[in-house]
This record gives sequence, C-alpha cells and structure tokens, in this order.
Amino acid sequence: MKKNICLLYGGKSAEHEVSLQTAKAVIQALDTSKFAIHPIFITKEGAWFKGPELTGPVESVEELQFVDNGQQIYPNALTENFSYDVVFPLLHGPNGEDGTVQGMLELLNIPYVGNGVLASSAGMDKVIMKNLFAQAGLEQVNYVWFIRSTWEAAPERAYDQVEKELGYPCFVKPANLGSSVGISKCDNREELDKAFIEAFKYDRKIIIEEGVTAREIEIGVLGNDFPECSVAGEIVPKKEFYDYQSKYLDGETALVIPAEVTAEQYTELRTMATNAFKVLDCSGLIRADFFVTNDGKTFINEVNTMPGFTPFSMFPLLWKHTGVDYPQLIERLVELALERYQEKQ
Ligand code: ADP
Ligand code: MG
Ligand code: MG
Repeated sequence: MKKNICLLYGGKSAEHEVSLQTAKAVIQALDTSKFAIHPIFITKEGAWFKGPELTGPVESVEELQFVDNGQQIYPNALTENFSYDVVFPLLHGPNGEDGTVQGMLELLNIPYVGNGVLASSAGMDKVIMKNLFAQAGLEQVNYVWFIRSTWEAAPERAYDQVEKELGYPCFVKPANLGSSVGISKCDNREELDKAFIEAFKYDRKIIIEEGVTAREIEIGVLGNDFPECSVAGEIVPKKEFYDYQSKYLDGETALVIPAEVTAEQYTELRTMATNAFKVLDCSGLIRADFFVTNDGKTFINEVNTMPGFTPFSMFPLLWKHTGVDYPQLIERLVELALERYQEKQ
C-alpha cells in the first residue's frame, strides 16, 4: 500500500523561496510507487492552500503555488478531511522549523518528519541553543545578546559591551533565522550600529559573536535514539563569509566532500555533533556546523534542525558520500518519523 505523504512547504519566513526549491526536489525524488504525494503550499502571509495529489515531478516552483487553483484550508483540516500517514515539513526558519508547525502536528496526532517541538524551537533560537551547548561543555565562540527594547533604551551601552566582551571583528545575527538573512560582519562601531538596525528588522532578539578566522566544516546527523554521523564536508565561500547570496544565488561556493580533516578531527567533530543532537533532544536529522581554526581548535557554530534539503545542498550530499542517496534519505526520514510516533503511542 502506498503511503500518503503530505508535503508542507513555502511558509511565512524569509526562507520561503528556499523551501519551494526543496519541495520541487523532494517531489522529483519520491518514488510514486511507494508514496502518494499531497502538496500543501503555505504563502508568505501564512495562508494554507492544498493542491491536488501529484503523480510526478513538476517543471517549476510556480506550479507548486496553489493559491488560484488549490483549496484554502485550515490546519485542522489535516485530520478532519484527509488522512496522511506522515507529514514532511519542508520549512526553514520561523513558523516552520521552529516548533510551531511541529506543535500543531503533535496536537493533531500526525506523524511528521524531523525534530519535535523542543529541539526545533531550541535549535531555531541561537541564544538558547548556545546556552544549551555551553552547558554540555561544547566549545564555541564568545557571544552576547540583546532584546530590542534594551538596545533602544541605551544603544551606546550595548555597543560598549560588545567592544569590551568581544571586540572586532564580530558577527551580528537575528536570534531566530537562518540562511544568513540579517547577518553582518562588523569591524567598527559604525558598522555595528548598522548591523544592529539590520538584525532587529528580523527579530526582537539578536546575538553578537566574536568573529573567528576558520574553516567551516559540517556534519550530517541522522537517527532518533541512536544517531549516526555522515562524513564531514567543508564550505569554501568565495566571499568574506557564507552569506545568503553565496548560499543560494551565485553558485560560487565550493562544497568539499569529504572535507580534509585528520582522523582525530573527524572523531572530535562526530562526538560534538552527536552531543549537540542529544543536548537539544533532536530526532530525525540535524546538520551540525563547525568552525575549525588553523591552530586546530573546533568550535560548534550551530545546528540546523531542517537543513537545506535540495539534492545540491550540503546535508543530502554528505549522506550521498556516506552511502545514502537522496531518495533513500527521504525514505529513511519517513521511517524515523514513524518509529518516533509509534514509540510515543
Ligand atoms: P545561519 O543560521 O543564518 O546559517 P550562521 O550563524 O551559520 O547563521 O552564520 C552564517 C555564516 O556567517 C556562517 O556560515 C559563517 O560564514 C559566518 N559566521 C557566522 N558567525 C561567525 C563567527 N562567529 N565567526 C566567523 N564567521 C561567522
Ligand atoms: Mg542556521
Ligand atoms: Mg549557518
């Protein structure tokens, strides 16, 4: 019997476009002899549109935006009118990767792929994530954080604190986002001021980190209670840092898989990735991202609970090099989703 899989994509997030690309690729990879594909498009405003069952790949992401030719639905319709064996939230960023959609699916009692409520929300908030990493003894760069009202009340005081505790260069980031949206590198106070204004456009909370000169190495983790790690991969951006443009637009960034790391470094990376997975209580998948400095120090930068997931994204490529190709990876994630669901019943 075919499994009814519901794909949720788009979303009310700055990462909306990326999610559409992912959905197109997942549809292309799903084996239609095993899965009946039910698409649900979420607009940038957060409205839900259900499209007809898909029996094969689509040519363009426009075909996946069922605003005019779909049926507007509300989340409760997921259980009232349809029955899905599993939902795959292909959503990045707030309102999708952050535990909100996961909480809704928990309430509706539908199995879903990927991380649960706690891991998703803790992984989305860089401050909470780093506080948990610190508690687990994972090495990371120094950081401070502010909410908008504290900064507005005394901006100079916030800048003084950054200069005293971190110095330059530093990175200013919205606490809850991804894809490098709203992130700036700062070398002086003038840039810091601009960077705060920019980051606060996306979130009421921001994080500022000490800047490091380091290689960027990533590891994929897959599993539930017994997570497994992929080979390591390296990101080699042509620009000053791995910004939105280099992630999705210019095609200039090289991904080196497997990354050139020593056996000892690889062991350390795997241990840290697994610890990060456990301390956030993850399930299904994460991509754990690291900075590895020339003098051999390894810092965890972040984990992504729904990492970029097109066949050309780091996470699927890491697994391909580890022996799990894209269609197998999707099936494995569905199995893990059902396993976790059954365990809870
Ligand atoms: P996102 O969740 O948006 O991917 P990241 O924290 O990974 O945010 O930051 C995006 C990119 O910015 C990183 O991949 C890296 O290139 C650069 N970067 C972020 N923080 C630092 C830092 N502390 N030192 C050096 N580079 C950084
Ligand atoms: Mg991220
Ligand atoms: Mg990142």
